[in-house]
Amino acid sequence: MAFPKTVAFHTLGCKLNFSETSTLSRMLENEGFEKKDFEDKADVYVINTCSVTENADKECRYLVRKIQRKSPESLVVITGCYAQLKPKEISSIPGVDLVLGAAEKFNIASHLRELTKGDSALICSCDISEVTEFKPSFSINDRTRTFLKVQDGCDYNCSFCTIPMARGKSRSDTVQNVVNNVQEIAKKGTKEVILTGVNLGDFGMSGIDNSGEKTKTYRRESFFDLVKALDNLDGIQRYRISSIEPNLLSNDIIEFVANSDKFMPHFHIPLQSGSNKILGLMRRRYKRELYAERVQLIKSLMPHCAIGVDVIVGFPGETEDDFKETFDFLHSLDISYLHVFTYSERDNTVALDIEPVVPIHVRHERNKKLRNLSFMKMQYFTGNHLGETRKVLFEKGSESSMMEGYTDNYIKITTPRREEWVNELVDWKLA
Ligand code: SF4
Repeated sequence: MAFPKTVAFHTLGCKLNFSETSTLSRMLENEGFEKKDFEDKADVYVINTCSVTENADKECRYLVRKIQRKSPESLVVITGCYAQLKPKEISSIPGVDLVLGAAEKFNIASHLRELTKGDSALICSCDISEVTEFKPSFSINDRTRTFLKVQDGCDYNCSFCTIPMARGKSRSDTVQNVVNNVQEIAKKGTKEVILTGVNLGDFGMSGIDNSGEKTKTYRRESFFDLVKALDNLDGIQRYRISSIEPNLLSNDIIEFVANSDKFMPHFHIPLQSGSNKILGLMRRRYKRELYAERVQLIKSLMPHCAIGVDVIVGFPGETEDDFKETFDFLHSLDISYLHVFTYSERDNTVALDIEPVVPIHVRHERNKKLRNLSFMKMQYFTGNHLGETRKVLFEKGSESSMMEGYTDNYIKITTPRREEWVNELVDWKLA
């Protein structure tokens, strides 16, 4: 094949993956590639995978088969967390030409220059412990909201999680680089930036020490430094903090956000379980009491603040009583919505050795109970704000007759499309 000219992307997983795909796409466009829709014909297809997605393998196989039927001569590149975790498995999928691990992902352009369609896939991946470099990424989505990756990797070792194995050590951009990126994003007309990372509150590990036998990272700055620096900038009107561990969401940050016009009254704080016993088994770094204190401080300073909560049901060892404790705890907290995850076994995690395992149907029942609770919480939260006028940032979204936007405190508004409202902050009376 001559040097490929068109490329199409498909992203599985989280906002971090979306921001990285967006950056990879811009990198290739700068190299002369034309971007195509994944449904169209392209010379190269890139699938950015996720390790958290259940059935990542199945999904990958399905997408590759689809490409092969449509365009058998095209090159297929698989990257992302799953590619780092299971490179051999992925390379054995018929039709895959290149597997790029965490360190090689951003060298995609040079790999494509050398790549030809062959019988077997090439694997370009190194041991994840060697990955110390931080690569900033951001998505430009209709100019309205941008997901900006400021931190990557994680030094925690929660017993259910494969992310540290897929993304490596905690490392970050510097405050100055983030400021530069935000200024660039502002020039494109974007009004809202969502700060993202794997363990965002751990922002600041940006020093690299090569003096010993092993490369180490060390802390130079803190997440609070970043928040203060961004608050001072002109251009961007809204910031959101995507998800932050409760032990890293300090009182200083909460108090600062409460007094800021730019940081929105909205936090997403993973809880995972309301039982201290299960939190211990999960190797989380806080107890439920600390979580409750955080929620209380937020709501005392910002009664209108939205608080989203991640929770896992069916973790090994979770008895009916433990689940009830979680349910009652969440019920008692002044929170706005839940993201409920059903525990599923992951290779090479410590949680695999914890017993007893919770039967699958019980996991699903618990998930349903918490999703119902989430629905009630959201209704209650929204109901509390009826009659108020709040600013909504409307998004372009799909070309349908409706449009969507969010208030400062993350209440979703859907209304008939008015083109002049796209990317505008509109005063909206909640009814
Ligand atoms: S904090 Fe825990 S759950 Fe989150 S990425 Fe790190 S190890 Fe995984």
